[in-house]
Amino acid sequence: MPFDSWLKSLPDDTFCHVHTDLEVLNALPLSFLRAEQVAYQIERLSTHLGSKPPLIRQAAIRYSLYVRQLDAIQEKGHNIREICSLDCQRPPVGCCNSEHHVIFSPSDLLLARPTQNTLHLVHVLTALQQLEHAHALDQGRLIRPDYCSHLTSTGCTLRLFKSPLCIHYLCPQVSLAMIATHGDQAADFLAAMHDSGNRVILTLQDFTYPEVIRAAESMFALVAPVGTS
Ligand code: SF4
Ligand code: SF4
Repeated sequence: MPFDSWLKSLPDDTFCHVHTDLEVLNALPLSFLRAEQVAYQIERLSTHLGSKPPLIRQAAIRYSLYVRQLDAIQEKGHNIREICSLDCQRPPVGCCNSEHHVIFSPSDLLLARPTQNTLHLVHVLTALQQLEHAHALDQGRLIRPDYCSHLTSTGCTLRLFKSPLCIHYLCPQVSLAMIATHGDQAADFLAAMHDSGNRVILTLQDFTYPEVIRAAESMFALVAPVGTS
């Protein structure tokens, strides 16, 4: 499985904080993930990031769990993946036409005043992106030239560390398809995704947006967290 293959490949730093990180991060609302997925992801990233300050280490792991939930939500709304891979109205590469993996562009930094912790987290996330990208290339994935530098002939090299811009973007074509499938329930989810993808990141809290998860739970009418069953 792609997630575990990369997580397993991460160099170890220290195991010292795994127990603490499991305690802190398992308390998050993770309704779209299974308990064993969550535990392994926390354990591997905690071990890899062991020497980072707890706030930054846990924020990076929290972000990866959030991204994985959005991945699971897109998988669950199966028509999203089908549209993107088979029926995209923006050929040849849809929305992967530019370097959207960059979390902070120079102009963002001029316009916004992020905190020191935010900048530290961006630095850590960017390093993780580089490792995830390199692992995908090591697995034989081939870059598709002239578009986003993380786009290969079989899709994006990033799974757990896509940028906030990439994970929250849904084009009008996909949005209309979701409304056709889920009716009014999709509206709150689409609004939350749009708000999150367009806001300026200033603090550690701005990387994830719990309202997106809550709206997705409502859209899919989840009654009990998958990870706790
Ligand atoms: S989100 Fe829209 S533009 Fe992007 S790949 Fe999917 S269908 Fe194409
Ligand atoms: S990082 Fe991935 S999802 Fe984002 S634009 Fe590049 S190829 Fe597309």
